[in-house]
Amino acid sequence: MKNDSFRILTINAGSSSVKYSVFDTAANRQLVHSEIERVASVEEAMRRIPALLKEQGVTELNAIGHRVAHGGAKFREPQVIDSEVIKDIEDCVPLAPLHNPPALAGIKVASDAWPGVKQVAVFDTAFHQTIPERAFTYAVPDAWCKTGLRRYGFHGTSHKYVMMRVAEELKTPVTELRIISCHLGNGASVCAIERGVSVDNSMGMTSLEGLVMGTRSGDVDPGIFAYLKRTLGLTVEQIEDALYKESGLAALSGLGNDMRDIEKQAAEGNKKAQSAIQVYAYRARKYIGAYAAVMGGVDVIAFTGGIGENSASMRKRICERFDYLGLDFDEDKNVNVKLTDSEAPQIQRDNSRVRVIVTQTREQWMIAQETARILSLKQAPAETLPPIPVAVSAHHVHLTETAVEQLFGKGHVLHIRNQLSQPGFWAAEETVDVIGPRGEIKNVRVLGPCRPANQIEIAETEAFKLGVDAPVRLSGDTKGTPVVTLRGSAGSIQTEGLIVAKRHIHMNTKDAEARGLHHGDQVEVAMHGGDRELSFRNVVIRVDPRFVTEMHIDTDEANAGHIEHSGAGELTPAPGCTAHITHCHTPAGVAEQSCCLNDTKKKEAA
Ligand code: ADP
Repeated sequence: MKNDSFRILTINAGSSSVKYSVFDTAANRQLVHSEIERVASVEEAMRRIPALLKEQGVTELNAIGHRVAHGGAKFREPQVIDSEVIKDIEDCVPLAPLHNPPALAGIKVASDAWPGVKQVAVFDTAFHQTIPERAFTYAVPDAWCKTGLRRYGFHGTSHKYVMMRVAEELKTPVTELRIISCHLGNGASVCAIERGVSVDNSMGMTSLEGLVMGTRSGDVDPGIFAYLKRTLGLTVEQIEDALYKESGLAALSGLGNDMRDIEKQAAEGNKKAQSAIQVYAYRARKYIGAYAAVMGGVDVIAFTGGIGENSASMRKRICERFDYLGLDFDEDKNVNVKLTDSEAPQIQRDNSRVRVIVTQTREQWMIAQETARILSLKQAPAETLPPIPVAVSAHHVHLTETAVEQLFGKGHVLHIRNQLSQPGFWAAEETVDVIGPRGEIKNVRVLGPCRPANQIEIAETEAFKLGVDAPVRLSGDTKGTPVVTLRGSAGSIQTEGLIVAKRHIHMNTKDAEARGLHHGDQVEVAMHGGDRELSFRNVVIRVDPRFVTEMHIDTDEANAGHIEHSGAGELTPAPGCTAHITHCHTPAGVAEQSCCLNDTKKKEAA
């Protein structure tokens, strides 16, 4: 095999078929794409693949990527498969009894067929591990939750691909987009993606919740279990089986699960087919509306999957009456969509605030990309590099010059109290009170110099005190954030700008180069020195030649690790606590965040 080629076999082992592809990720080419349908067993189908690949001219592989439906709460990232990972996937079988066993069988046969070739598990659930607790929690008894009962979300590989493709098409960083991704295939789900991370997905603990699907019901009242037992004498297993296999479009239409047949019959006047289409579209529209509410708006609605890619009439029905969101749908563009490759046409009018994009999903390609990414990660460079100092910041505010005058009097200029460790930044003598609908935080330090927009940074626990839901954002990204009242010595103002700061590392350009990191990369960081050592994920790297390299965490994060942060008046170095970057997980396309020293916060412990 040539050095400039990196061949990855991707395997999607389902209960009735095994799809496999080979990609050369170095040359970004697909070499093979095949499916073995109606298999007697996954093992049997898998054992046929080496000979089939030989016929297709593929004799050597560099790696194998497996689609694994359920990774539980443990996996946020693809994993190189070893005995421990296999055990973890086995542990998730009760959560995905139909899907994880075929994947495990595929892994087992692949390791026998290609001994020594690295295998990677790419989880459907991983992309959704950023869903906040308020969205993944079912309101059920605690003992149930302790068994792992919560919402996980699925189709993560597809939704992540769509996110990246949309950002690429719009030439806009994902961190500036609120995307609602609609994967409408036989299985179907809607995903709310806020600034590069999944914040909700219509599938839940299993792939049964949410949209109407080919043969799956999507949302039903859990009360139907007792009702059907009483009225029809059905068992739990019978009901569950019917919800997976005899419901959805097939049940509604009475014509099977193929949308093409249903649309044809509907056009010929079949009432059940018409009703099936209406129920399907209504449910999807309902989720899109809900997710626009969740994200405080939407910039892009994306359609993918067999129905999303091909059914212009379904896209139109779903997008009806979204003018209140700022969507002006273009019917001509919609009916003219013909996807042949990875095009991503837009089907809104030019003046529409919300964009609507149609694109093919490429889950197999994405699995190959994820496999290559995980295998190419640098191995523990931190061991040879000095640790990163950690500083703890308490609540603080940044103000505009206008706000300073409104709060402290006309012509007022902030007084420097002390310099902060990042050059050019200081804590002021002045403080303000931050007031929310439920409570207030007194004497919050103002930091200088003044900025183009007000920004109030608090810890999550303080948001409860104020009675406001503060979003986790990077400094400078305050658009659409909650409004609070600031009270100074001479007056009060109401302003948006309330955030919980996304944890980040200020990194000098030289230090970033030494670690192979770029501005906007996200890394995992192990903290050493606190009483309860811990790791932080999704730590954003901010690079500038003027920065002093330092990791900033807030008081909640410091408390979680028993990291000391005594001291007053400024950002407090955490004595004895240092950080090591242990893992780099930069989603392609996320690496574009606005950064200038003016954006950079320095914080203080009040
Ligand atoms: P899977 O989830 O199994 O990968 P697909 O993404 O291939 O499924 O989607 C299958 C669905 O797409 C089926 O309901 C099929 O009828 C529908 N579909 C495919 N082509 C069209 C089309 N031209 N018009 C309407 N629906 C279509």
